[in-house]
Amino acid sequence: MLQYTFEDMKSMDRSVLGNMVPLELFRTIRLIGMNQGLPLGGKGTTLTVGRKIGESLPVNTLEELLQLFEDLKIGIPRILHEDDRKINIAVEDCFCKGLPTLEEEKLICDLEGAILEGALSKIMGRRISVREVKCNAAGHEHCEYEVKL
Ligand SMILES: [Zn+2]
Repeated sequence: MLQYTFEDMKSMDRSVLGNMVPLELFRTIRLIGMNQGLPLGGKGTTLTVGRKIGESLPVNTLEELLQLFEDLKIGIPRILHEDDRKINIAVEDCFCKGLPTLEEEKLICDLEGAILEGALSKIMGRRISVREVKCNAAGHEHCEYEVKL
């Protein structure tokens, strides 16, 4: 079966509407479609989808991954802490910034963490786990992921 690649996604020929869609469409797919439309808040599915996306990204280092994260306007990542066991990555200007807080402590950027997980697992050649630890939508100062190495 023929499959699309990330490279194919850049092949665009829309003369009137161009190559952008509004953030509210991305949010709608993420939060209404996936989170509210799938059973259990889409937990397992979101993880599978995010990992697959991450694996498809053309990146070979953590730096390239973080740059692509910003280029795709998911958010602006910044390494807060890094040692042999873990890396903490804050994401400023995340796609969720500005959404109302519906429930304290409810983190909503799980797909983005799964994308990081898939990409990092591919880069490092072994299974890496990424946990979402903070989220704007939960009332925190930024979104943040903890990467277990
Ligand atoms: Zn968030």
